[in-house]
Amino acid sequence: MLHETLTDWLIAGPWAETILLAFAFAFGSGVGSFLNVVVHRVPQGQSVVFGGSHCPSCGAAIRSRDNVPVFGWLLLRGRCRDCRAPISSRYPVVEALAGLIVTAVVAIEVLGSTASGRRGIDGLLFGESSETLAVCVYHCWLALSVFGWTLFAWDGRDIPPRWLWPTVVAAALVPWIWPAAGWATGVATLLVPLVLKGVGHCVRCP
Ligand SMILES: [Zn+2]
Repeated sequence: MLHETLTDWLIAGPWAETILLAFAFAFGSGVGSFLNVVVHRVPQGQSVVFGGSHCPSCGAAIRSRDNVPVFGWLLLRGRCRDCRAPISSRYPVVEALAGLIVTAVVAIEVLGSTASGRRGIDGLLFGESSETLAVCVYHCWLALSVFGWTLFAWDGRDIPPRWLWPTVVAAALVPWIWPAAGWATGVATLLVPLVLKGVGHCVRCP
């Protein structure tokens, strides 16, 4: 019976997993919003911490309710609330991609974890999985750094040293002192700036 199936699903459905992934997307898209600010302001020598966001056309401050990642842009239909000037779709795309990156890492490493012998969120909540969660946070940091570097390269800019070196040093050193962090992700992270540098070099000096 459809009714019973629906009731079963409502009671036993994967609510905890769904809520965890929704939080992962919200957190990732928030980081994506910050990356938009970093990639826009750092090359201009502006602070990424001080000063709110403004419409590039009319200078009006972006209201906090319009600053919600992805959804703010969708609700405004891609236009400034004050002057109706179009807002680049790059902003919500970057936010959505960062959200999906964190969602994917959490889905693979937390929901797919067998560290406690109990798969999924049961293992996270009731198993010995605090290290799984820590590794997941570390890998999210590496993945979001790689994404940020790619945005600088996309704009044809070198990666600013203070946004490059902390993650490079961590990727090279952390697996030595914390084997659970894994070598593969660290090595992959270290290769990205070299590839981006090579690609950027090819674009600028054909
Ligand atoms: Zn405006």
